[in-house]
Amino acid sequence: MDELKEHCGVAGVYLSGGGDGASKLVYYALQSLQHRGQESAGIAVSDGERIEHYKNMGLVSEVFDRGRLAELKGHIAIGHTLYSTSGRAAIENAQPFVSRSKLGTVAVAHNGSLVNTEPMREFLEETGSSFTSTSDSEVIIKLIAKNYKKGLERAITDTIQLIKGSFALCVMTEQKLIGVRDPNGIRPLCLGKVQNGWMLASESCAIDAVGGDFVRDIDPGEIVIINEDGVLSFKFGEKTSKKLCVFEYVYFARPDSIVDNIGVLEARMKMGEVLARESPAAADVVIGVPDSGLGSAMGYSRASGIPYAMGIVKNKYIGRTFIAPTQEAREQMVFVKLNALKSDVCGKRVIIIDDSIVRGTTSRRLIRLLRKAGAKEVHFRISSPPVKFPCYLGIDTPERAGLISANHDVEEIRKEIGADSLAFISLEGMLEALRSSLRFPEDSGAEDAGGEDFAARRKIRLEACGFCQGCFTGEYPMPMIGEIGKRDS
Ligand code: AMP
Repeated sequence: MDELKEHCGVAGVYLSGGGDGASKLVYYALQSLQHRGQESAGIAVSDGERIEHYKNMGLVSEVFDRGRLAELKGHIAIGHTLYSTSGRAAIENAQPFVSRSKLGTVAVAHNGSLVNTEPMREFLEETGSSFTSTSDSEVIIKLIAKNYKKGLERAITDTIQLIKGSFALCVMTEQKLIGVRDPNGIRPLCLGKVQNGWMLASESCAIDAVGGDFVRDIDPGEIVIINEDGVLSFKFGEKTSKKLCVFEYVYFARPDSIVDNIGVLEARMKMGEVLARESPAAADVVIGVPDSGLGSAMGYSRASGIPYAMGIVKNKYIGRTFIAPTQEAREQMVFVKLNALKSDVCGKRVIIIDDSIVRGTTSRRLIRLLRKAGAKEVHFRISSPPVKFPCYLGIDTPERAGLISANHDVEEIRKEIGADSLAFISLEGMLEALRSSLRFPEDSGAEDAGGEDFAARRKIRLEACGFCQGCFTGEYPMPMIGEIGKRDS
């Protein structure tokens, strides 16, 4: 069975002293996280006594109109946007999941993927639970519900000890909002201050969108409980080591987000600079594939001195909700979504930068597009290393057979996509770009002063700054158990 792979956005709001406005803030947060998932959206809200929720297929703006939102009254809310592989998109998998029992109600919104869903599901079914979806996230809420009689905190910590994989969670009861990040911090989650309350969100851009102030990232292995007393934090025992998904910086996160002290746009620009150094090309213009290739293209241009141009225009109104039924139709979508700007590329030697090659579909189409628009030469540069392994931890990549770099070397891919030259950034180069983008706000000023203390602190922090690079190296932060482990070994 195919695992349901999800890359999603989660958000939560707690407003002190009551009020009705939590769902509205979560709605705006979800709008800002729309890039993380466009299949379904949902919000659960509590007025202190009862949890109500609504979820449906579609974009946030399609699922919630003014009337629907006005019905969701309360001072605590969580929300979710889902992207799943097209075949598995179904209302049953929309989140948040809500579980009601005589002890109380719990709602959960999950970003990530579990790698031990099957044994957990079997265990739960054997002990009386039944499932309504194919989502691994339902396992999480069933485990919390099962342990709820021990108290919420205990139920959550017990659940976390049992599940393996990636999880950034927003959980709520009638009276509390809880944020959880897995022991490796594979998916991002951050905390912000909003007027009269607090916000949890997958990315800082959601906190900015509601006029809030970013406070900090939730640490790997940290649980935060938010109620009238404020924010209480504790660690859930297990040894943690940070392995944030490197693809968040490559492709997934919004450029204006700051994830674990690295500005996403800054990281992409640095990747472009490294790429220019590692793989120069004689050309007249540098262009980027919107949106996630733009930062690297700017960096490449800056480092190489070759002028930057727009080169490609993206139709902003085509989301991934447009599900094409056949491969041919999917390939056609690239033309519907992207078009070349003739005036930028005609008669020119063009360097085009994209963030990644997965199946090779987009790059092949883009090169055809540029040649048709009159480009004299097309030099393709990729700001991530070749994707050779599937992701089991939340990014929607195909099996190895579908990954062009798993089966072909760079020269074969160059021929296949029809480029004049092709180069990927090296793994070391990408990591160097990320590490050099690492910022510590509390160090501002100290950096100017320099000194041994600063250097020592910086060294410790750099060492703690680890990434999951499984899609490039096949080495994952945890053993991949069962079938999915065997599948590509
Ligand atoms: P492909 O066409 O299969 O080679 O995919 C590469 C293109 O898809 C690039 O333009 C990326 O920006 C984009 N991309 C990379 N990862 C993903 C993903 N997980 N979901 C959707 N698009 C992606």
